[in-house]
Amino acid sequence: MIREKAKNIHTRAKHGRIPGIIIAISIVIVIVLAAFMLDEAGTIDLSAIFGGRKQLGDGTLRMYTIDVGHGDSMLIVSPGGKTMLVDAGDENSYDAVKGVLDELGVSELDIVIATHPHKDHIGSMEKIIRDYKTGILFRPNVQYDSKPYKKLIDAAYELQLEMKYAYGGDEIEWDEDCRVRVLAPVKDGVYSPDDMNEWSIILRIEYGENAILLAGDADIYSEQLAMLNSEEGLFKADVLKVAHHGSSSSTGEGFIQAVSPIYAVVSLGSEDGHKAITDELARSGVTVYRTDRVGTIIAVLTGAGVEVYPYGK
Ligand SMILES: [Zn+2]
Ligand SMILES: [Zn+2]
Repeated sequence: MIREKAKNIHTRAKHGRIPGIIIAISIVIVIVLAAFMLDEAGTIDLSAIFGGRKQLGDGTLRMYTIDVGHGDSMLIVSPGGKTMLVDAGDENSYDAVKGVLDELGVSELDIVIATHPHKDHIGSMEKIIRDYKTGILFRPNVQYDSKPYKKLIDAAYELQLEMKYAYGGDEIEWDEDCRVRVLAPVKDGVYSPDDMNEWSIILRIEYGENAILLAGDADIYSEQLAMLNSEEGLFKADVLKVAHHGSSSSTGEGFIQAVSPIYAVVSLGSEDGHKAITDELARSGVTVYRTDRVGTIIAVLTGAGVEVYPYGK
């Protein structure tokens, strides 16, 4: 009898273990699913499961439009983990730019681009190239007499950085899965020697079926000159980094049509008050994100699709 009871208890205990295993497996599944869901892109992100720093280059092309107040600074990470910094905000932007670079584990910049010499684009670039090993620095071929620009160029010479002028029609070697085209300034184009915005480097970065267009501070004249000198269709992009902080002297109607973006990102300080273009883009059905409202913005391009959302203040 006692033996029988003991056998029963043993059997119950054995049966009791099966739900325990199921619970344990369920917990593991829930943890793994949660790890998948943690990735901002909603895509599978193994680093989120296995811990450690988020790996650079996860097969997507990413653009971080860094919240630098009034100014521009975009970090672009290629699908294979190459890095490109387009502009570096003003002299007070160093911490904001460094914050994003460090958080992502960026220690080297393969390419740095000064779209034009205005200080709200190159103010912190001298410190950046000193602190982050830089592969090559691109700039437009224009003379500009200002202290921050001189400091940047002097530092580049001192560091023996490779420097190149960028012209429309050039292609920049970066990641074999991407194509980086320079659309402006047009070689031998007639630009004002006093208006640096006109000289802005306009870039198109292509990945699979997706593209990003970065327009610097190019004005309507520069946009038109660049479009006249480029093959048709080259301005089309899913994501547009809107020129000149959303000012109405840029981003003309023909340009908006040529780009036909799904998303537009505007880098501006809260005091800028450039509403005209962002309103017009929104009216054309473009989803607009502004750094003054949402902080740093991330665009993720998979080659077959695109998502843009706030990265957080
Ligand atoms: Zn400018
Ligand atoms: Zn600017």
